[in-house]
Amino acid sequence: MLLNIFLQCVFIQFAYTYSNKPILLIVSYDGFRYDYINKASTPTLVKLQREGTYADYMYNVFPTKTFPNHFTISTGMYAEEHGVMGNNFYDPETRKKIGMEKSMFMQNDKAIPIWTLNEMSESNRYSGCMMWPGCKFSYQNVTPTHFESWDPKYDLYKRVDTAISWIMDPQYPANLVMLYIEEPDFHGHVYSPDSTVVENMIKKLDNVTQYLHDKLRKHHLSHLVNVIHLGDHGMISIKYKNILNVSNYLEKNTYSFADSSPTLHVIPEEGYTDDVYNRLKKASAELGHFTVYKKSEIPNRWHFRRNIRTPPILLLADKGYAFDDFIDTVAYYTKLYNLKVGPNSLFGMHGYAVDIKEMYSFFIARGPKIRKNHKINPFNTVDLYSVFANILELQSRRPINTNLIKEVVDKKETSHAVKVIVITVVGMSLSLLLISCAAAITIILIRRQQNMTTAAALNKRFPKSFQQAVEAQHLLEAEEA
Ligand SMILES: [Zn+2]
Repeated sequence: MLLNIFLQCVFIQFAYTYSNKPILLIVSYDGFRYDYINKASTPTLVKLQREGTYADYMYNVFPTKTFPNHFTISTGMYAEEHGVMGNNFYDPETRKKIGMEKSMFMQNDKAIPIWTLNEMSESNRYSGCMMWPGCKFSYQNVTPTHFESWDPKYDLYKRVDTAISWIMDPQYPANLVMLYIEEPDFHGHVYSPDSTVVENMIKKLDNVTQYLHDKLRKHHLSHLVNVIHLGDHGMISIKYKNILNVSNYLEKNTYSFADSSPTLHVIPEEGYTDDVYNRLKKASAELGHFTVYKKSEIPNRWHFRRNIRTPPILLLADKGYAFDDFIDTVAYYTKLYNLKVGPNSLFGMHGYAVDIKEMYSFFIARGPKIRKNHKINPFNTVDLYSVFANILELQSRRPINTNLIKEVVDKKETSHAVKVIVITVVGMSLSLLLISCAAAITIILIRRQQNMTTAAALNKRFPKSFQQAVEAQHLLEAEEA
């Protein structure tokens, strides 16, 4: 036991470098629905639930899509505040359609991603971003110290290796790493969440999770690194026949679409807003299964309405339905995976209303600052930012959800800085003790060797019989006396 502690201290002290700030690793599995943990064999994720804190699910923000939700997780803001209104959208200020590019994330300079806040706060805090959406751009003129651009060919296990190598970087040890994995979202879209393909992907991600925690253990980092596993939204099956052809109701050149099913942004040409709206209302009445909203009619609780980038008209399909833009998406999947498509073919979709349970994702946290064996009530992803900031001991400029922090963060845990000092002092003391013991043993052995050498030399010069004769002589002299 003592030897184990000693070896750990010595290993950590001499073999690895790491930050003396609290360390947080945030791992996002895109489109990992809240109940996927029970859908396939996931022993590692289940074990992590027991070892740390988890919620049955998290509520996402509208629209329940990848870029808006990842930016909400990163900034603690709803879409109407941070301005990422979809995976693509029309920007009236530049009169351009915006996709994954810098301007998507730059509308509000008060949106400070957690990796930026970390780097800005102190000179010895370093962030690492492994493919996390929006991470490759600079905010407040700050870019993360460590960075990898999104590359779907980049092996998932290698992403873990790189992320952990940033934490152990000898010069700039990262104390915050954002790790993004685009699965099981991608295969969920193509094959549906009810497919065996997705089941196998869930198992693979559980293996990736195990690999990550094994690697932390191997490098003696488990007791120093807080890990949060989460997803950005869920996924639901959709039949190919559930496509609503709304374009049939509209006149060409009077509108354009942005984003994609099941949330379509409709941008009418000048003077056509009422005409386009009325035609879409007619389509909704006849086709059913979707709702038309003028900007002013979008519910406040979605936190989506109050932004110049909010579309003049929004279409939202009911769960399990899509609009005709989805025909092109299916054609792409068909070509990519050589699929045979019929009316009942199943695909996967997300982006629906926030109160649809299949859109919820998961949350599991484990680490030195995380409460153990603790289940918490579901919460909104917008509040994660305050949890991240608390774990990292950063001053958050966003509203703080103190209840959630109390539920997740273990305040009884020794602070990271104290832990680092204790490990260093104990490591050094034990090292000194070992060196002193080794020196004492060496001196004893040298002296013993010297004595033996002296005896041997005496033996050589004065043979045993001669010595015994001398001793006998002494004894006789004593008796005579
Ligand atoms: Zn996503």
